[in-house]
Amino acid sequence: MQRMVILGATGSIGSSTLSVIESNPDAYSVYALVANTSVDKMLELCETHRPQIAHMVDGQAAKSLKQRLPTSLNVEITTGEDQLVDIVSASGVDSVMAAIVGAAGLVPTLAAVKAGKRVLLANKESLVMSGRLFIDEIRRSGARVLPVDSEHNAIYQALPESLQNNIGYCELEKAGVSHILLTGSGGPFLTSELASLASMTPAQACKHPNWSMGRKISVDSATMMNKGLEYIEARWLFNAADEQLKVVIHPQSVIHSMVQYLDGSVIAQLGNPDMRTPIAHCMAYPQRIQSGVEPLDFFKVGQLSFLEPDFNRFPCLALAMEACKQGQEATTVVNAANEISVQAFLENKIKFTDIAKVNEACLSQVAPQSLNSIEDIIRLDLQSRTYAAEWVNKI
Ligand code: NDP
Repeated sequence: MQRMVILGATGSIGSSTLSVIESNPDAYSVYALVANTSVDKMLELCETHRPQIAHMVDGQAAKSLKQRLPTSLNVEITTGEDQLVDIVSASGVDSVMAAIVGAAGLVPTLAAVKAGKRVLLANKESLVMSGRLFIDEIRRSGARVLPVDSEHNAIYQALPESLQNNIGYCELEKAGVSHILLTGSGGPFLTSELASLASMTPAQACKHPNWSMGRKISVDSATMMNKGLEYIEARWLFNAADEQLKVVIHPQSVIHSMVQYLDGSVIAQLGNPDMRTPIAHCMAYPQRIQSGVEPLDFFKVGQLSFLEPDFNRFPCLALAMEACKQGQEATTVVNAANEISVQAFLENKIKFTDIAKVNEACLSQVAPQSLNSIEDIIRLDLQSRTYAAEWVNKI
């Protein structure tokens, strides 16, 4: 029986994870559920999953949950950063699903890595922000980090076992890998008139053609910033150089990514676009379990197509790739800027096309500095948020 902590339990990945646990009740149990403010949803989850602990990052939400949760359920309610670190590091915890959205996921995700847990990594932003520190911590603690992001999960599955066991330090060339082909659907605006992008609404941007996801990642998919963050994530997870990474647009989201080998072979992972597949893979690795996902029906799939990314349409993708080339300061800055600009767009404060403008303005301000600790990273993240918020106000 694996005892799990679900960070971001009330979100899209959180609920898919709980669904996989429900399909495999003899193999997994919930030790703790973690969210920010969604009290109603947490209440419901506590009643269904009976965790030992329910943690609300927001203190007011924790109070409200305490008032409403029946004591007969015997769930301990906690709040506070230190308590959260204790939860993910507790000796009875086997694995941690890291699915808080954005930079807020950094501290608990890294704490789980430091504690040497099995970490199922959905929160790509934490790796984008802390890169080298995160990877070094994996080596130091011996944590097993498994990528949940469907693309990285596909790449992981297509790599030889020796590289799967050496995350962050893969020697791709030695293993015969020539390229990692990161696929992306191109999101809801792949074929929209370029001139119409400025007037796209949050509802239109969140209407992904293939995947059902949280609002932030949905907007990131519409700008393709998501693919840019994934590019940086792949750089760290698979120790890939720029010339070993390629982005391929694949509108059907059936192939989730591919690995190209020196001998001409390409190994791809395919499946229906449902996050329960990569989640189940990470939970059970190296075994396989039921995920509840319908098997892929090739007779219904029809055609698979592939396109080169158009950087005029997707300037955020180009910015993230450029940040990846520049290094850690740049990726931390662009990630922070993007969280502010996406939130401003979701609140109708700026236009869809302004997201890239804010991100570019912040990236152009990056100055070299030493990022040797988590505190250095958080300081730079906060500075960049302030700068991005000023830009939002100027627009
Ligand atoms: P959602 O918006 O659906 O859920 C976000 C979760 O994070 C909620 O549980 C939310 O709690 C919690 N949260 C938000 N802010 C904080 C905070 N400050 N402190 C603690 N918890 C917080 O997001 P998704 O599930 O879509 O995405 C989660 C992560 O997984 C992201 O990093 C995303 O990039 C990644 N991912 C998602 C995929 C998907 O298909 N959805 C695919 C691949 C990766 P509350 O409800 O209380 O606000």
